Amino acid sequence: TTLTGLDQHPGKRRGMKRRQIVTGMAAAAGVAACSSDNADHTAASVSAGETFEWNLVTSWPPGLPGLGVGVENLAERINAASNGRLNIKVYAGGELVPALEVLDAVSRGTVQMGHDSAYYHRGKLPAAQFYTTVPFGQTAHEINAWMYYGGGLELWREMYADVFNVRPFPAGNTGVQMAGWFNKEINSVDDLRGLKMRIPGVGGEVMQRAGASQITVPASEIFTSLQTGAIDAAEWVGPYNDIALGLHKVARYYYYPGWHEMGPMLQCTVNLDAWNSLPPDLQAIVENVCQAINDDMMAEYTWGNAVALEQIKADPNVELRQLPDDVLRLLKSLSEEVIEEMAAEGEWAARIKASFDEFQRIVIPHHEITELAYMNARRL
Ligand code: CA
Repeated sequence: TTLTGLDQHPGKRRGMKRRQIVTGMAAAAGVAACSSDNADHTAASVSAGETFEWNLVTSWPPGLPGLGVGVENLAERINAASNGRLNIKVYAGGELVPALEVLDAVSRGTVQMGHDSAYYHRGKLPAAQFYTTVPFGQTAHEINAWMYYGGGLELWREMYADVFNVRPFPAGNTGVQMAGWFNKEINSVDDLRGLKMRIPGVGGEVMQRAGASQITVPASEIFTSLQTGAIDAAEWVGPYNDIALGLHKVARYYYYPGWHEMGPMLQCTVNLDAWNSLPPDLQAIVENVCQAINDDMMAEYTWGNAVALEQIKADPNVELRQLPDDVLRLLKSLSEEVIEEMAAEGEWAARIKASFDEFQRIVIPHHEITELAYMNARRL
């Protein structure tokens, strides 16, 4: 199931060479007639008349901007591109399987497809964390480059095939998140001590080591927890999603940057048996639509976040603040410590961290003189 890194890239797939001719009659019947310039695709052409009805489960509330809507777009695009030969029915979190058991359902073959976050599964597979984000890790640009050209996707597919019998696809990104909503000021590292904060994953572990208490609260309960004072602070995503939960109404300080999630990637997963049952042209459609959604969701977040931030800044009860440098410095060094320990938790984590580190070593010097230098120059 594992090909070389280049083979994974949709543009490099041999399937791209094929020319497909769909007649009006055949399309109406849901049957595609194909001509192939490649002899070994004859079998696929024959099976191209078959239609597939798939279920896709997600971790997201129905209609959630960005994450939820992105998955509905994904299903619609696959349906349209396949001329109805691959129909995907989307289920919101909890409708068919519990929100945090999406990958397990795909792995078991209960459903063919899923959309969630890799790091939800780090309890079972620590290395999965790298395929969402690690604190002080990659921006959305960087994780995409690592995936498609830097060897990240190849390793991911090898690992998921081995551990879950699943094929993963990058399928969305929120971009740089916010550090979160706080009802206590953070002026120095001392202010982290005793802070009760909702912050999941490795980021939460880092905050815990900095002296805070990591509290686990599902998204639906963040608002009430802040309002009642059960927690002092919470991170969710960024302006676009945070304003949808009304968090600006129950917390005073909105801190940035999201050091813990600076380009978290979402994953689409397909059960490998289901994947292998698809003819190559439908496989190419799934591959290409996932890559399109990966890009489209980032664009939606970039715009949605900017518009929502304008609204939040106009609210006299909210103060936008940057975390102090010494706080970020402490969080960065603790993050390195936590990630180092994570890499020691098995062979996959060590291999993947080595690939991640090598990619960062090469890409960061370039981004220093491009993205960063330009962002600084734009402020002059
Ligand atoms: Ca978050």
